Amino acid sequence: MEVRTRFAPSPTGFMHLGGLRTALYNYLFARQNGGKFILRIEDTDQERYVEGATEVIYDTLRGCGMQWDEGPDVGGDYGPYIQSQRKDLYMPYAKKLVETGHAYYCFCTECELKERRAAAEAKGLVFKYDKHCLGLTKEEVDRRLAEGQPFVIRQNAPTEGTTSYTDLVYGEMSFPNDTLDDMVLIKADGMPTYNFANVIDDHLMGITHVMRGAEYLSSTPKYNLLYEAFGWEVPQYIHLPSVMRDAHHKLSKRDGDAYYSDYVDKGYLTEALINYLALVGWNPGDDREFFTMDELVQAFDVHRLNKAPGIFDVDKLTWFNAEYIRRMDFDAYLAKVTPWFDQVFAGKKMDYHRLAELMHDRTEVFNRVPDMVRFLCTLPDYEAELFTHKKMKTNPDVARTALLLCQPVLEGIAEEDWNETELHDRLMAAITDSGMKNGQVFWPLRIALSGQASTPGGAIEIAYLLGKEESLCRLQKGLEKLA
Ligand code: GLU
Repeated sequence: MEVRTRFAPSPTGFMHLGGLRTALYNYLFARQNGGKFILRIEDTDQERYVEGATEVIYDTLRGCGMQWDEGPDVGGDYGPYIQSQRKDLYMPYAKKLVETGHAYYCFCTECELKERRAAAEAKGLVFKYDKHCLGLTKEEVDRRLAEGQPFVIRQNAPTEGTTSYTDLVYGEMSFPNDTLDDMVLIKADGMPTYNFANVIDDHLMGITHVMRGAEYLSSTPKYNLLYEAFGWEVPQYIHLPSVMRDAHHKLSKRDGDAYYSDYVDKGYLTEALINYLALVGWNPGDDREFFTMDELVQAFDVHRLNKAPGIFDVDKLTWFNAEYIRRMDFDAYLAKVTPWFDQVFAGKKMDYHRLAELMHDRTEVFNRVPDMVRFLCTLPDYEAELFTHKKMKTNPDVARTALLLCQPVLEGIAEEDWNETELHDRLMAAITDSGMKNGQVFWPLRIALSGQASTPGGAIEIAYLLGKEESLCRLQKGLEKLA
């Protein structure tokens, strides 16, 4: 039997991390088994349609390295793969269910339903459709249909017994049938609901393993009743717990931490995100942490999926990201960091190549880069106390002496000789002559040049990047602070 999995997102315009992880696990499972990974766009809720939303799905999946075998833009034997384009296909199946008594026409209006719901809730009951229209005679139904009355088609769920199934993650699931409501299969606009379409499509598309969010666990018995009514084989279910910020909080749009694009915009690498996301809800059973997509395909094991919600820890992601950045080859890093440098230096002179060398190992997330290099553009307003450093054995007096020592040295280097070797050799010679310790000179010099205690590179690299004029100007400011 060929394994066929599917990712079936609704086009909302954003890719939630939970959804992306669902796609990933579906992809891994299909690849691992030499099966097929299918992309199906579930857009039957026309009110929620968002322009360009399918492209977001394509771009995200492709960008993450998950190419589907069948789907809207690549075709396949079971298309179309966009549900709205399959619209006409669902009604005959619904009618078949009506004929066999597993479904029925319902003419109750929104208004009537609202009243009955309110009445039930007033009595403290959970409203469940009361099968009111199941009581209509065939003649009555035909008459209303002929009159063109708006209708929906509802599932006729049994009221006795239980429906059970085995979920690969959650185990044995059992639901008393009297808790199942008669869900709508076909809406008044003729469109199928998700609840109906997912069953029809999963069957027609030959899906063998349905991997999706755990929010569908309790609807699944109703789907199984539909499979049974049609005499179709029920797929293997693999429901996935949600991805949370912590035990009590969901990832949220408002906090900007829910969507894939939030992380890409901040400068997280896709590879790091995918690697970490794979581990939010699954573990390889050993202490391996770094996985390429191919390694994930090898290592993934549905039996090692967690039942507890996956906690998406941004600090952990950041740690992964820093590691992935460190492992990037330099040219790739330079290309990636350039737009972030541009935010600070656009239109100004700056040796990006050298700065990138200094920043490569220190970059955890790209959006932190501008703040880390901004001092090279604008000297921050700093306190004179920074010149004092116990370990470096500096104090304001030492710092002043150091800067006065450096000043003529820097002045004496010609523009065209302004490079790190020259700076190093001349400063070292002056320090040796002065009898001061290296730290006593380099610490104050770095403070004067950068205005901050922590910088990428030391005094020499910074002086080189700033250039002669700016370095001397900052050194002078340092002396003024110390005066
Ligand atoms: N369209 C559904 C969603 O986005 C898919 C659920 C499923 O995979 O069946 O939640």
